[in-house]
Amino acid sequence: MRFDDQRRLLVQDLHNLGIADAKVLGAFGKVPRELYVLPQYVEYAYRNQPLPIEMSQTISQPLMIAIMLQYLELGEDDLVLEIGTGSGYQSALIAEIAREVCTIERLEPLSLRAQGILKEQGYKNIHFRIGDGTQGWQKAFPPYKEFSKIIVSAAASEIPPRLKEQLASDGILVVPVGRGYMQILNRVVRQDGEYTVTEHGGCTFVPLVST
Ligand code: SAH
Repeated sequence: MRFDDQRRLLVQDLHNLGIADAKVLGAFGKVPRELYVLPQYVEYAYRNQPLPIEMSQTISQPLMIAIMLQYLELGEDDLVLEIGTGSGYQSALIAEIAREVCTIERLEPLSLRAQGILKEQGYKNIHFRIGDGTQGWQKAFPPYKEFSKIIVSAAASEIPPRLKEQLASDGILVVPVGRGYMQILNRVVRQDGEYTVTEHGGCTFVPLVST
């Protein structure tokens, strides 16, 4: 089956699995996942499952990304900080919806590969940094100090304090928290200087490695 048809079926699947946010579904309908997976996995690109990428990391499962993006309530005015660029697939999905994406990856080869694909795809609203994302967006261009939305694509042992600081007022942060194989998806809302944390079920991510 052609990739375009497979992509349409994936969007249908996500919808059937409970994803109702039209912007999120629209983004999945636009971004070609086959470009971001390793060549040997291209035929599995539209299976609703995570796949290995280089350096023992993974491209996240589409449903998991969709759930997280839905919890972020993304809109066209959002300035988004993403921790864990990985393959760059999720960066592209966010960039389809939001105004700008700042994405941090600690493993240089992964960031460089993602930068190559995303630039070739014509995205001008994604900014890259190589380094430890638990420290937030710093020593990087554009010099943003806070973000309306923050998404962490690796498992943190606690909600990273620097990321809470970089969350704008009325902002939303989504992060998997836990030390074992399974983690709990946490959603943090900042309002009037207060942080409200809610838990949203189990998930499995590669660890967030702080240096
Ligand atoms: N959303 C990505 C997920 C990649 S997996 C995708 O779908 O492709 C998570 C990524 O987080 C890995 O590439 C890993 O190297 C990166 N990572 C782990 N700890 C990090 C940290 N402290 N700062 C930045 N990136 C980190």
